[in-house]
Amino acid sequence: MLRSVLVSLAATAATVTGLALDPRATTPYDSAWHPSTYTVAQVQSLLSQKLTCCTALSVVFGSKVSYPNSTIYDASLASYWSIQEEEVTPTCVFTPSTKEDVSLAVFVLNVGAKVFPGKCNFAIRSGGHTPFAGAANIEEGITIDLKNLNSVIVSADRTTVNIGPANRWQNVYSQLDAQGLSTSGGRVATVGAGGLITGGGISFFSPRYGFVCDNVLSFEVVLASGQIVSANATSNPDLWRALRGGSNNFGIVTNFKMRAFAQGEFWGGYIGLTVDSLQTQLQAFEDFTGSPNYDPYASLIYSLVLDPASGTWSVACSIEYTKSNPAVLNPPYFQNFTSLPQTFSTLRVSSLTDKTVELAYSNPIGFRQLFATGTYGNSAKQMLTIYQAGNSTVQSIRNVPGLQWSLSYQPEPTIITSKAATNGGNSLGLDISDGNLVNVLLTATWNNTADDARVNAAAKALFSQAGASAKKLGVTNPYLYLNYAAPWQDPIAGYGAANVAALKAASAKYDPSGVFQKQVPGGFKLK
Ligand SMILES: Cc1cc2nc3c(=O)[nH]c(=O)nc-3n(C[C@H](O)[C@H](O)[C@H](O)COP(=O)(O)OP(=O)(O)OC[C@H]3O[C@@H](n4cnc5c(N)ncnc54)[C@H](O)[C@@H]3O)c2cc1C
Repeated sequence: MLRSVLVSLAATAATVTGLALDPRATTPYDSAWHPSTYTVAQVQSLLSQKLTCCTALSVVFGSKVSYPNSTIYDASLASYWSIQEEEVTPTCVFTPSTKEDVSLAVFVLNVGAKVFPGKCNFAIRSGGHTPFAGAANIEEGITIDLKNLNSVIVSADRTTVNIGPANRWQNVYSQLDAQGLSTSGGRVATVGAGGLITGGGISFFSPRYGFVCDNVLSFEVVLASGQIVSANATSNPDLWRALRGGSNNFGIVTNFKMRAFAQGEFWGGYIGLTVDSLQTQLQAFEDFTGSPNYDPYASLIYSLVLDPASGTWSVACSIEYTKSNPAVLNPPYFQNFTSLPQTFSTLRVSSLTDKTVELAYSNPIGFRQLFATGTYGNSAKQMLTIYQAGNSTVQSIRNVPGLQWSLSYQPEPTIITSKAATNGGNSLGLDISDGNLVNVLLTATWNNTADDARVNAAAKALFSQAGASAKKLGVTNPYLYLNYAAPWQDPIAGYGAANVAALKAASAKYDPSGVFQKQVPGGFKLK
């Protein structure tokens, strides 16, 4: 019954638009997925009464579609990390339970858009941690909140783990920790898997295993037609590579099959430093990142944090040394940081889950947030200039209520960027020819919408000065980490012309009518 309803919808769409549908849009569905309680005539009648895509989904999925002022809808909005995303109000929120639900919904929305052009746009949401509005939510459209796709299943031979896209990393790690295993993923407990992995992903394990996306052995993806396919080294390898950095441009990922490895508790935590020894610290960072003997167990996030009231800065270093069984305390590779006078320390041996929960404390939900990013050659001088630019550009907005302003420097040495080449490749456009790099993330937090423009302007000014300085010092790099990029940046262009061409070719092949370009407007699109 359901299949005939959908084929009828497809036929209606073709009649209304006069356009040929993507031939895969008539993919047969197994009606056992959704025992049908309605008839073709009823659906056609709804269509003639100007059925919306939300009501069409309600007909098919019942209580899995929720509307404003209902518990599920309100909880979905309230769980976005930033207020900007929470403020976006979709017409309805669809919460699928299975990949088949996702498949059927995408099919209905694809067909619906042809009946009601512009009225069936949708957003894809996993953990909801992108700061800017509309990345994983949509005004006057359907937000597909994948929150129920959050299983974690370890293979019998313990070498792989299947992860549902809406997992928060805490859920993944707590289950793996209990089995003496781990996988590459986010460093903050509350962040989601879906966005982090498809955007690249930086992990504590990156010096050992590369970007998080390099560790995906197979994606399970719902294409625009509703077809469910695998993308891996042997099946749809061009899609496999495209999804390693290509974000939401090709389909909805319903499962990530990730490499798993043995992992026990390890040493790490935060240390606090003062800016009195800033230049020494930045030189230590350059030496750390540029060492020809980079220690693959060493992970560092070096953050300069402003106190807007006093105008003073402090330093917090997240230091993690992932060697385990046994853990190694105070490894020499961090000595240039750990030997400096410390204002506080949480260094200890504990689980990965514990480490990511610690990082989540400093990133609470419920504020206006901005991320913006740049990538530069490894240079203490450049990092000093960025700090100075951050300090000067913030002065004009120091009175913004609730302002927090921090700069994080993260090593991206060739030991990380070289891993893709031996793992099937990715779309990021980074390799050893880029040399050792530094990823810079600006995080700004504030209270009021009225200050959005001022904060964004200050951030733009900062990165404009950083770009000019990089040019002078000869340390420019076009790469912008998509998951840290502001909406006014263009990270996909930074992947380079060849990668952009490959991404466009994959889009044309797997989504010939451009559903994920036009009907899913949020996030970073192929241009
Ligand atoms: C507090 C905090 C800590 C962070 N820590 C790290 C870190 O340690 N390492 C790191 O690399 N990054 C980190 N990030 C950045 C993070 O990778 C991005 O914010 C990422 O988008 C989060 O994924 P999500 O699933 O929560 O995002 P969402 O906002 O749900 O999605 C992000 C984008 O991906 C798309 N998308 C989501 N799920 C799917 C899917 N299943 N199929 C297709 N497209 C999908 C969405 O449409 C959206 O455009 C952090 C961010 C925050 C806010």
